[in-house]
Amino acid sequence: MTTIYDLHSHSSASDGSLTPDKLIQRASQMGVTSIALTDHDTINGQAEAAKAALSYDINYIPGIEISTTWENKCFHIVGLNIDPQHTALNSGINKLQTLRSERAKKIAFKLEKKRITGAYDAVIEAANGGMVTRAHFANFLYSQNYVSTQQEAFDRYLGAGKSCFVKTVWADLSEAINWINQSGGVAVIAHPLRYKLTASWMKRFLAFFKDQGGLGIEVVTGRSTPDEIRLAQKYAAQYDLAASVGSDFHTPDNQWVELGRLAPLPETSKPVWDLF
Ligand code: AMP
Ligand code: MN
Ligand code: MN
Ligand code: MN
Repeated sequence: MTTIYDLHSHSSASDGSLTPDKLIQRASQMGVTSIALTDHDTINGQAEAAKAALSYDINYIPGIEISTTWENKCFHIVGLNIDPQHTALNSGINKLQTLRSERAKKIAFKLEKKRITGAYDAVIEAANGGMVTRAHFANFLYSQNYVSTQQEAFDRYLGAGKSCFVKTVWADLSEAINWINQSGGVAVIAHPLRYKLTASWMKRFLAFFKDQGGLGIEVVTGRSTPDEIRLAQKYAAQYDLAASVGSDFHTPDNQWVELGRLAPLPETSKPVWDLF
């Protein structure tokens, strides 16, 4: 039987549109054989996802995507095969959850100064008790016709340095790696080519990540080109990091990204699942 891994996805516990149950069901329908739900800074979808995996006959790997800051820049670190109940991990992400609520208020305040009202109530309602992310603000701006695409919401208002951007100091990169390692998981650099680092910054980042106990890097993500896969695998090999595969699926509305629809890992890769 072929195995299809998808080790990066989101549910309604953060900025995904499907409940954990529906997400796992969809993964199963797409032929995925092993899935990790990796919501932003929360483990609240984990129990439901694990339970669903039993009924849809799919292997479940507990996960999370942690927001971190290193050298003044934001990096996402995926934790795979974590223990979602681990104390250090949970006290760590509690702080990030507070930061997210505070940031949401500040973003809404900045939007109000631009005469865009009602954002706070709308994102709180949309998040429905889950993490509030900029994706929720982008959806609000789009649904109220302030922008004509979600991307435009980031380009005009929400992206780094734009008028309603709120700079946030997330978890220390090394701290986040520790939480993941202490909970028995594997720390993986999410979408490594999305940070727009120069080659020398990328090398510094990879060296630091490795030195602090990071073990993996996403070599194949939802929309990777063959060149991008080669480059990411080159970094994996240079820094002796295991290779992960994850779509970063958020919603069926995005026709470009589907659960499990991923290129194979290069033959030279060391698969991250060998570490589970
Ligand atoms: P946050 O972690 O709250 O800053 O929100 C980041 C989330 O917003 C990401 O996980 C994506 O889901 C989404 N996002 C970030 N940048 C963009 C972008 N340029 N276009 C569309 N969605 C984005
Ligand atoms: Mn997201
Ligand atoms: Mn991310
Ligand atoms: Mn993600």
